[in-house]
Amino acid sequence: MTDTLEITPALPIPEFLVGEVRSKLAYVDETIRKAEVAISGNRITLHLEQAVDAALEAELTAKVQRVVTAMVKGAFKPKVQVLEDYLDRPVLYAEDPNTELLQRGEMHQETNGVYTLGPLVTRLMEYFEAQFLDLADSFGAPPYRFPTLIPAQYLQRVDYFRAFPHSLTFVTHLREDLDVIDSFSQHAACDEHGLNTAPDSFSKIQALLSPAVCYHLYFALADKPLPGGKLAATSVGNCFRYESSNLVSLERLWNFTMREVIFVGPKEYVLDNRETARNRMRDVFERIGLAYRVESANDPFFIGEFRKQAAFQSAFQLKYEIRARLPFKDSTLAVGSYNYHQDFFGRSLNITLEDGSPAHTGCVAFGLERMAYAFLAQFGFDVEQWPAEVRQAVKK
Ligand code: ATP
Ligand code: ZN
Ligand code: MG
Repeated sequence: MTDTLEITPALPIPEFLVGEVRSKLAYVDETIRKAEVAISGNRITLHLEQAVDAALEAELTAKVQRVVTAMVKGAFKPKVQVLEDYLDRPVLYAEDPNTELLQRGEMHQETNGVYTLGPLVTRLMEYFEAQFLDLADSFGAPPYRFPTLIPAQYLQRVDYFRAFPHSLTFVTHLREDLDVIDSFSQHAACDEHGLNTAPDSFSKIQALLSPAVCYHLYFALADKPLPGGKLAATSVGNCFRYESSNLVSLERLWNFTMREVIFVGPKEYVLDNRETARNRMRDVFERIGLAYRVESANDPFFIGEFRKQAAFQSAFQLKYEIRARLPFKDSTLAVGSYNYHQDFFGRSLNITLEDGSPAHTGCVAFGLERMAYAFLAQFGFDVEQWPAEVRQAVKK
């Protein structure tokens, strides 16, 4: 019996895939508490919730090898394109901001990946919101409000279940049945794993918690010609991605807030605006003095889809991430992304341009908690030392 399992991957994991494979191992089995992949790619260490016997060990090993093989076999290193590199801008702070955030009551964990935030973090998020709203205004993009729930049918139509099944969050309610509701009201109680209610008390899933903002706009435009042939819009919303044991402080949340500026129209319209947005944000980040870089990236597809889709995104430069420096851990964190979906949504949802061809779409997306967190990690908590405009914004 062992509660730590060492596995030699069936195929050596190339360095550029080490992080992606590690993050997917969280979803392999509920007994895995934490997974590590050596940077050499030759060893996987699983830390387990409890000791397992030889049979379970063999089962776990087989599942891990399935992930490794699916992700590594035939994978080739994507050419990372760096569009902006300001990582070496001087920063004021090198400590781990979590200690200070907790001490000041600026961050309170409700459950894994779910936090309440205090006034300083909130005002910082509002400061960044103001910058993103200015960006939206510069395109004349009007505001929209989208719901927190999204119909299962919508996500099915854009193949979300195939691409990101692991991070979905489902919504349900009690079945309309007097016995079920009565029984629930009398017996519902939480143990350390959650509610004790029998699964058949719950209705079939019709809705999920929304994983992104822009999808709602595309669905609103579905199955008709795009009025005026092009559209810019902006919205902010709660987004949900269940990232299992990868959830960590404000860096990776289950429930986070995303601001998007969204473009729908002909290819050039979308691509030009994505580029213009990037250049305008470059000025904003320069004013603040943020240390970051912008580089090509791919979405965190689940294992079956990973190799094909990631290679496709890289080859066509569909996604660029704004990666802010986290000095305390000598790494970077994606605080935003510039995305181009080609005509994927236009085709899947039948959004047509004047000539009958499918519309192209793109979005510029910012994670507000990550934005504030990265700022604090670089600038610390002495507000007097902050760039003047940020200082003024949080003092209001
Ligand atoms: P990552 O690569 O870190 O998983 P992503 O590439 O999946 O992020 P996008 O889909 O581009 O993220 O979402 C836009 C932005 O939303 C990200 O740049 C990030 O700032 C924020 N974001 C995404 N997932 C999370 C999360 N789990 N917690 C907090 N913020 C998030
Ligand atoms: Zn989007
Ligand atoms: Mg990413």
